[in-house]
Amino acid sequence: MSDLQPLTEDEQVQNYVGGEWQSPTSEDGQAVVNPATKEELGYVAFSSESDVDEAVERGQEAFEDWSRRPVEDRIQPLFAFKQLLEDNIEELTEVLVQEHGKNVHEARGELRRGIENVEVACGIPTMMQAGSIPNAAPNIDETAVRRPLGVFTAITPFNFPGMIPLWFLPYAVATGNSFILKPSEQDPLVAEKLFELIDQAGFPDGVVQLVHGSVDTVNTLLEHEGIAGVSFVGSTPVARHVYQTAAEHGKRVQSQGGAKNHVIVTESADLEFAAEKTVSSSYACGGERCLANDVALVEESVYEEFTDLVVEAAENQTVGYGLDEETDIGALITPEHADSVRNYVETGVQEGAELLVDGRDVTVEGYEDGNFVGPSVFADVTEDMVIAREEVFGPVLALASVEDVDAAIERLNTSDFGNAASLFTGRGADARKFRHEADVGNLGVNVGTSAPMAFFHFGGRKDSFFGDLHAQGEDMIHFYTDKHVYIERWPDA
Ligand code: NAD
Repeated sequence: MSDLQPLTEDEQVQNYVGGEWQSPTSEDGQAVVNPATKEELGYVAFSSESDVDEAVERGQEAFEDWSRRPVEDRIQPLFAFKQLLEDNIEELTEVLVQEHGKNVHEARGELRRGIENVEVACGIPTMMQAGSIPNAAPNIDETAVRRPLGVFTAITPFNFPGMIPLWFLPYAVATGNSFILKPSEQDPLVAEKLFELIDQAGFPDGVVQLVHGSVDTVNTLLEHEGIAGVSFVGSTPVARHVYQTAAEHGKRVQSQGGAKNHVIVTESADLEFAAEKTVSSSYACGGERCLANDVALVEESVYEEFTDLVVEAAENQTVGYGLDEETDIGALITPEHADSVRNYVETGVQEGAELLVDGRDVTVEGYEDGNFVGPSVFADVTEDMVIAREEVFGPVLALASVEDVDAAIERLNTSDFGNAASLFTGRGADARKFRHEADVGNLGVNVGTSAPMAFFHFGGRKDSFFGDLHAQGEDMIHFYTDKHVYIERWPDA
């Protein structure tokens, strides 16, 4: 067991509106359940239309003053927030593991990536500059400036509840907007803890707010005339709905969807390294990652050797409770989701793929009721199979042999998704081809999980992303501001 403590308090999750904690008022809600132990950790009531109205109104009021404050003043609460996150990272980890199911190392790593975004947003005084030129025309100077737009919202998924809100929040407020987070209803306790820190960081009331809820709360936000823009991360069907609805209601929108990621392994690769990285990327966070490797396309000359290495690494994975230090694969978010992953494995078997490692029937001693699914490995997965095309979002890795890199790139480009892909190779020419031809937003060469640092945007193409400006980095500055241009001529006195 790690030093982290089991949660004991039964939390009634609260909204944070206008600098105050409030109970959401709709009659709907759901229990927050530890996916490994099945203990109830709390209850999240959903926000009604009037809860959302109030948050938007408070956000608009706060925007009036916040957007006019000197940029140096706006980043001071972010510095404080960063320190509070550092000081409380163990408590946040504790909550995250217990409501989500991932292991402690993954939870700490996730929070670290979130903190990175707070750090980057502290550079707004430089990043927000837009350029100027003296004497653009005779006696005329031209200057571009960025202005914030109002109240933004982010609607986030269950799989990175500590990190994904921070892809947006720091940039939205540093640029002078106010911000409302609607976290996943499946694991809302981390958001609650983040907002306890927000409460201490010194933001004026109404600048940063939290509303809990589900479908109805999201739709109220998407249609609300007081919302200037929407960031969404979640599954593709919902991402598409969010993109269309928010756009129809005249908002800026960036909407990140699901994934089906490929890894290509060539005969010139360091095979042991490639297998280790492929397996860890596939099974980390129980495969509940939009960057997980789902399908490995392996040059036929090394297919058997690579397959053996993958099987051995998969069989060495420890399935268990996330709080146990030795756990590799923790519990999946709900029993329904665990069943859906098992059903995908069954579908793969029915389709004729060869199941080399079967993770369907796994029991963890002491946590017999937990939503555990072990690692599965399929061989000889063809392009048309469901397990080759649909997002499984669980610890399932599909292997296929390909003639060469050209064939592998051609195959991955037929995917509906374009979130991430990796190539393991020792040949620069392969890497160059991959870089230029793979139609995917996050590309890695000899990197298992292509997760960009916070100062780069997080890519995504095709059904993995709807919009133009991505999360993180410089794209966030463009998303959260509008550019105005001043053209000045001053006659001599
Ligand atoms: P989800 O789409 O079920 O939920 C995401 C958010 O949308 C939640 O806040 C939820 O309350 C809300 N929501 C759910 N159904 C809705 C509906 N019908 N109408 C309006 N709002 C709705 O996603 P999830 O299961 O929480 O997260 C997993 C998915 O997120 C996976 O598909 C994964 O690939 C994707 N994801 C993508 C990225 C990325 O960067 N592209 C990152 C993380 C997760």
